[in-house]
Amino acid sequence: MKGELDNVGKFDFIIVGAGPAGLFAALELSRAGKSVAVFDKGSPISARKCPIKTGASKDCVRCHPCAIISGWGGAGAYSDGKLTLTPEFGGNLERSVGREKLLDLIDEVDRTFVHFGADSPVYEPDPVFAADVIRRGRAAGLQVIPARIRHMGTDRAKQVLASFYEELGASCEVRTRTEVQTVLVEQGRAKGVLLADGTLVEAPAVLLAPGREGAPWMERVASDLGLSVDSLPVDIGVRVEIPDEIANDLTEQFYEVKAIFDAPTFDDRVRTFCMCPHGEVVTEYQSDSGLVIVNGHSNRDRKTQNTNFAILVSTEFTHPFRDPNGYGGAIARLANMLGGTVLVQRLGDLKAGRRSTAGRIERGLVRPTLQQAEPGDLSFALPYRHLTDILEMLKALNAIMPGIDGPHTLLYGVEVKFYSLRLSLDKGLQTSVKGLYAAGDGAGVTRGLVQASASGLVAARDFLDTEREAS
Ligand SMILES: Cc1cc2nc3c(=O)[nH]c(=O)nc-3n(C[C@H](O)[C@H](O)[C@H](O)COP(=O)(O)OP(=O)(O)OC[C@H]3O[C@@H](n4cnc5c(N)ncnc54)[C@H](O)[C@@H]3O)c2cc1C
Repeated sequence: MKGELDNVGKFDFIIVGAGPAGLFAALELSRAGKSVAVFDKGSPISARKCPIKTGASKDCVRCHPCAIISGWGGAGAYSDGKLTLTPEFGGNLERSVGREKLLDLIDEVDRTFVHFGADSPVYEPDPVFAADVIRRGRAAGLQVIPARIRHMGTDRAKQVLASFYEELGASCEVRTRTEVQTVLVEQGRAKGVLLADGTLVEAPAVLLAPGREGAPWMERVASDLGLSVDSLPVDIGVRVEIPDEIANDLTEQFYEVKAIFDAPTFDDRVRTFCMCPHGEVVTEYQSDSGLVIVNGHSNRDRKTQNTNFAILVSTEFTHPFRDPNGYGGAIARLANMLGGTVLVQRLGDLKAGRRSTAGRIERGLVRPTLQQAEPGDLSFALPYRHLTDILEMLKALNAIMPGIDGPHTLLYGVEVKFYSLRLSLDKGLQTSVKGLYAAGDGAGVTRGLVQASASGLVAARDFLDTEREAS
């Protein structure tokens, strides 16, 4: 050991990534009396400050790593804090643990969040209202799926994560601003990790939970260790921003409207994702690839007059789809090449085949909450296929959100979800290397806070069970 870690010995368990998957695993293991080290390359929660948010910069200055998605709490810290309590959303964990167990895990994760301060109400739509929306959606080809959602809000989520730190900072060896370079394996068993500063840290079990931002790193580790990987469809699309009044009826009831649509021209699956009522559109910097992409969040106590959400197109071109993350990255890079950051365009301009200019955005009826986005033309960045799917989705959504398909709706691009790789894992989320686990978004297991948290529990419990059986 050297440098800051001189006083750190061997551990029972090492966790890479202090996002929800890592934190829930750390809770479970430390409460079971295990010695746990948690490494995250981002900053402690109190130091996670996006220069745009603090007003220190007008534009994304490409922090390495990005404070929005890296650090204590992971992408969850700045996330919208929507805890989706319905198993159909937020991941594929049901495949590993079955529906009954997933329902129990969701309940347990929710109770833990409430214990740490997420005491906000749960949204559940009135059944008569929901039935009417479902009927209107169906007539337009949309499948609307009501979900139970507890909304913490971005501001509250940070307080909740600070409370997690109060417990875990005392019971685990937590190292932020500490990047893990690679995983050490000996004779088919996990042996520890090598940090970027050259320090070797040992443990017989390691959990990889590097999130979406760490998906390219995970891909490299998997390749170095010869772990088998499946490709998932890549999700590419735009973030839509509309005035509150277009979505209010629905968001007051559902909070988030989850709609799925098979777009007629290409028969691609298109869906709404991460709805942020009264929210803000934000940029997300992927430090590994150097890309600026778009996202959104809502504060619970600071509201805007707009609602935003993503429209994502899931595409699997050939099977296997060799490099979905590379493909999504190439499209995001095109948008960055044009605007230096994310682009924004009015729907009316897109349909008329002209770029949006600062003047046209200024004359529009929707004030962009992401002022730094560059007015431009998304058709230079997004493939014809994706644009067609998105336009068809907006037309269909007009049946449940009248006005959304109008000329003033803003589209920001591009939004890409880098969780397009899935490691081959057993039911306990262990890889083919003994003692090496993978969980959360970066492993392709989940796509949201609740299932990511639950996946951390699954991995930790599998480790504890295996240890118990062996003793
Ligand atoms: C702006 C935004 C809004 C969102 N809103 C919601 C929402 O409302 N509801 C919802 O359910 N989900 C939301 N999400 C998604 C949610 O945040 C993720 O699904 C969830 O955080 C995934 O958890 P995770 O533990 O897998 O990874 P993450 O939370 O991504 O955490 C991974 C951590 O690993 C660290 N890391 C990566 N590589 C390394 C390495 N080599 N060494 C050390 N550390 C490393 C990263 O710094 C990061 O802190 C949102 C995401 C964003 C970005």
